[in-house]
Parts: sequence; C-alpha cells; structure tokens
Amino acid sequence: MPKTIAIIGAGIAGLAAAQALRASRRKVIVFDKSRGSGGRLSSKRSEVGNLDLGAQYFTARERHFSTQVQVWRELGLVDSWQPHLYQSRHGVLSYSADEQQRFVGTPRMSALTRSLCAGIDCQFATRISTLENTPQGWLLHDSEGQPHGPFSHVIVATPAPQAVPLLAASQSLSQAAAAVAMLPTWAVALQFAAPLATPVEACFVQHNPLDWIARSQSKPGREHSGDVWIGHGSSAWSAAHLELSPDEICEHLRGALAEVLGCTVPAPTWQLAHRWLYARPEHSHDHGALADPAMGLYACGDWCNGGRVEGAWLSGREAARLLLEQGH
Ligand SMILES: Cc1cc2nc3c(=O)[nH]c(=O)nc-3n(C[C@H](O)[C@H](O)[C@H](O)COP(=O)(O)OP(=O)(O)OC[C@H]3O[C@@H](n4cnc5c(N)ncnc54)[C@H](O)[C@@H]3O)c2cc1C
Repeated sequence: MPKTIAIIGAGIAGLAAAQALRASRRKVIVFDKSRGSGGRLSSKRSEVGNLDLGAQYFTARERHFSTQVQVWRELGLVDSWQPHLYQSRHGVLSYSADEQQRFVGTPRMSALTRSLCAGIDCQFATRISTLENTPQGWLLHDSEGQPHGPFSHVIVATPAPQAVPLLAASQSLSQAAAAVAMLPTWAVALQFAAPLATPVEACFVQHNPLDWIARSQSKPGREHSGDVWIGHGSSAWSAAHLELSPDEICEHLRGALAEVLGCTVPAPTWQLAHRWLYARPEHSHDHGALADPAMGLYACGDWCNGGRVEGAWLSGREAARLLLEQGH
C-alpha cells in the first residue's frame, strides 16, 4: 500500500493537518485549485496594495492555538490589530469598548498559510474532481482528467458544499457535509483619493446591507495609496444580490458605507468586488473533524469546528490526530 497522504485544500485547515502529519514524519501532498495558499484567509494583490477580502482578523482562545499564534508573532508573521472599533445599529454609530484581542497576518493574511506550506509538497492550480478507491489506494482525478496517487489516505479540507462530491465514497461523511449550509458574502474594496472624514477604523454593522467595514491601512503592515476600505455585505443581503455585477455591488455598498459613517463618501478612485459563495457555515458545528477510518477518508475545515480561522486550524490538527490514532 502507498504511504503518502493526500490533502485537498491549502487553506489553514488543510495546511494545519499537513504540518501535523509532517511532524509525525508522514509524507503529504496538498492539492489546491487556486494558484496559492490561504483560501478564505488569503489576501488579494492589487494595484492599491494587498487586500484582506476574506477573513479580517482572528482570535486565539484555545490553548494550543494561542501557543501557535505566539510562535507566529515571534516570527513576525502575525501582529495584533487594535482598531478604533465602532458598532452601527439602526444607523446609529457608537464607539465599541471591547477587550477582544484581534490578530492579523503581516504584512498580509497569506503570510500565515505561506509559512505553513514550508516543507510540504503543494500542487496548486489543481482542482480535484473525484476520488477513486482502488485496490492500490486512493486515486485523485483532477478537472483536466489527470490522475494523482495512489494515496493511503485522503483528508478533504474544502468548504462543505465542495467536500460533498469528494466524500461520496463514504456515506457518513458525505451526509455530514451535505447537512452544512454555507452562506455567501459580497466583499468590496474601495479606494478614496482623500481620507474619509471619520475616526472609524472598523465597525460591526447591523440593519444595513453591510455587516462589517474596516479601514485597511489601520492594520499592521498594510500600505496603500489613498484611503482603502473593505466592506462585507451581510449574508442575507449578499444572497439576495448574488447575481448583480461587481460594479453594481460596489455602488450599492458605497451608499451603505456612507449611511454607516454618516460622512461624505465620494466616488472611489478604484474599486473591486469579490463574491464568496461559501463564506461561512450557517450554523456552528463542533465535530472537530470527521473520520471514516475504515475507508481512510477524513474531512476538516471551519465548517466542522466553529466556522472561523481558529476553529479551522484546530479542525485540521484534529483530522491529523484521528488519522495517526488509527496507527497509520
Ligand atoms: C468574507 C469572509 C470574512 C471572514 N471573516 C472572518 C474573521 O474575521 N475571522 C475569522 O476567524 N474567520 C473569518 N472568516 C472565516 C475564515 O476565513 C474561515 O473560517 C477559514 O479561513 C476557513 O479555512 P479552511 O481551511 O477551513 O477553508 P478555506 O480557507 O476555504 O480553504 C479551502 C481550500 O480548498 C480549496 N478547494 C476547494 N475545492 C477544491 C477542489 N475541488 N480541489 C482543490 N482545492 C479545492 C480552496 O481553493 C481553498 O483554498 C471569514 C470568511 C469570509 C469569506
């Protein structure tokens, strides 16, 4: 039987699993359909600088993750972010005294997942379409019809809807993934030539098309020309406007930003909209990770464990632990 383990998904969950297996001297290959690592924790390079369009920050509450974050801080890959934080309810803006410690990757979010790729064989731009269970082990077929493998085990570390077809060989795993609905988010980045006249650097928003805004350059390591804002449409608003064009989305959410800030928000000098179809699980799940040890199939990701960066990292580690526990 082959000894190599395949991991599908180079987000923080898949890479946490890869590093845990590597630490136990297992050979691992990670596949991702994108050109780089990070998934929803990545940053987009743009002409106005690096933009965090997905995860905005992360928290570290669990002991092992806190220890990992401390290591990343010492390596200069993570810094704390303490914005002037506000909240907006029914159009009323108020300062939000909040003790939560927030972290960001520096100089961009993907610094974290790039460091987790160290020593791991990562095959990017490879979308895995099907898994075939053969007497020689698992064969992965990509969207170009190329086979990869065989592998002794497979860990699927994609969002739940994308995991369902990959887990089809295991009824229990595919059913668990199919039961998880994931909600969309429209994210926009808007650059203004002159700073907007507001002290706000971040704001949780309710009763508005937006549910979050952040002034990008308030985060450590982000350098932009002009004043660059990130806005996230709420799940409900994003779902209702899924098919609008990026320009229409930018226009709607610029108006929503003006409502939140209560100041003049001119036409942006540069804008971008990105649609996350599977931004977050609708409900929080606490599986940790999922395993079908008899088949050698595992699943992890934020949808298995709380729906955030910290939960995704812990879920990846748990998938690796479950796999190693089987004595493989
Ligand atoms: C708009 C938005 C805002 C968020 N804000 C926060 C926040 O402030 N704080 C926080 O903690 N979390 C936040 N999150 C959630 C956080 O980003 C995720 O919980 C976390 O990044 C999930 O990591 P993951 O590894 O489970 O999945 P992902 O990051 O989605 O990684 C999965 C990977 O699988 C790859 N993939 C999928 N299908 C295939 C296939 N068939 N073949 C090969 N590769 C495939 C994808 O390309 C991707 O790289 C936010 C998410 C979004 C979208």
